[in-house]
Amino acid sequence: MNFPWPEGRRAAAAFTFDVDAESCVLAHDPAASSRMSLMSHQAYGPRVGVPRLLRLLRRLDVRATFFVPGFTADTYPDLVRTIVDDGHEVAHHGYLHEPMRGIDAATEAEYLDRGLEALDRAGAHPVGYRAPWWEMNWHTPDLLVERGFAYDSSLLDGDVPYRLRGRAEPGDLVEIPVDWSLDDWEQYAFYPGWTGSGVIESPRKAHEMWLLEAEAQHAEGGCFVLTNHPFLSGRPARAAALERLIADVRALDGMWVTTLAEIAAHTARTVTEIRHIERVEVPEKYVPRPTGPAAG
Ligand SMILES: [Zn+2]
Repeated sequence: MNFPWPEGRRAAAAFTFDVDAESCVLAHDPAASSRMSLMSHQAYGPRVGVPRLLRLLRRLDVRATFFVPGFTADTYPDLVRTIVDDGHEVAHHGYLHEPMRGIDAATEAEYLDRGLEALDRAGAHPVGYRAPWWEMNWHTPDLLVERGFAYDSSLLDGDVPYRLRGRAEPGDLVEIPVDWSLDDWEQYAFYPGWTGSGVIESPRKAHEMWLLEAEAQHAEGGCFVLTNHPFLSGRPARAAALERLIADVRALDGMWVTTLAEIAAHTARTVTEIRHIERVEVPEKYVPRPTGPAAG
């Protein structure tokens, strides 16, 4: 892939945690707050998962990136401080993990600013952003550049970071791509009537598929970015498997295990090409005609 990793490094890996807690449920159904058990399933993240994950990161002496929605920061005022005090990065993940699909730039700007204000109240000054559900709009890069963000980590079109500019704003930011195969939601998430298929995978399987990806990225000089949610991966056997995974990834020769902020800063310093991504659209004449009622 020929990415200019720092001297002595041949690939990079970042372990990221989206501390969605209650926000991702309430954004879609504010009335779900009446469901005490469902709220407790989400609260497991900040209450039990984050402390356990912080302990394992301390044992491994690895720094990670925590994406914290503003609502989570407001609900658990000590959480952000605890994460920052352990030397980790805190980044932006919306205010209430708002659904971003199809919203206009003004509304999205409001969500962004609300999230920034909440993190600011908690004492964090994020340089990175990850869209809730990784849902970016074509106007999002401009909004992020305008607010001085150094990077985003929500797009799915690369194995290594790249510099990205928007449509109007001068300046650019770094994009650090992600992928659904490297997200614990697909492996572990299940709550009746809220999310998941009902299949909960073994942490052994998750460890195996994620390590395979890390090894392949390492062989090709890529950037491995894993996304975990403390309310899922903070549970004991999953956290134990994650601890083994981080140790295994770190043992790969020349693997740079660090925060997304560090990767973004390095990319901004060493990559000169700045990409602009044009919206892909179907010309009117190729838009399929609506079909009639099915025959029979
Ligand atoms: Zn999230």
